[in-house]
Amino acid sequence: MATIFTHPAIALGLSPLFGPVFRSKSILLTGMILTIIPDLDVIGLRLGIPYNHLLGHRGITHSLFFAAGFSCLVSLLMTRNIRNHFSKIWLYFFLCMASHGALDALTNGGLGIAFFSPFSNERYFFPYTPIDVSTLNIARFFQGQGISVIKSEIIWIWIPCLFVFVAGVFGLKKYNKNLYKNTKKHDD
Ligand SMILES: [Zn+2]
Repeated sequence: MATIFTHPAIALGLSPLFGPVFRSKSILLTGMILTIIPDLDVIGLRLGIPYNHLLGHRGITHSLFFAAGFSCLVSLLMTRNIRNHFSKIWLYFFLCMASHGALDALTNGGLGIAFFSPFSNERYFFPYTPIDVSTLNIARFFQGQGISVIKSEIIWIWIPCLFVFVAGVFGLKKYNKNLYKNTKKHDD
């Protein structure tokens, strides 16, 4: 897995691209939490569920199916008062959750990701895996292994996310300016 600090960077990076989502702290926070939900499957390891099982680590909770369904549920709960934004919020939540499996598939360790679970339990990596895999052992992480992990995550995740975030903020500003100009034109 990528580290628990890094998955939420995707939610931050994507947020300006979604207009109203960017302005809602609760939706932003939910998006950040959703990026780490798939790793709750590590509980299964403690319960004796094998890594390569459907319910094992990087199994169904890392799949696109799970991301779509879980995001749909959360979006329904959160958009009771803003129905018209449902599809946009669902898409944001879905991308946040699905990004988890995608980042894990860029790591260089563990088993691959069951993207198409429950229909297929085959595990996949991307052809290029530049991100150092993070250990599940917290003590080992803080004993040095974590430094190379964080370094590769800064290069391959944080910097691109920052770039998308800044580009999104500027794009949003420009969009709002144009909207304001057009509204003024209509008012004149
Ligand atoms: Zn994971």
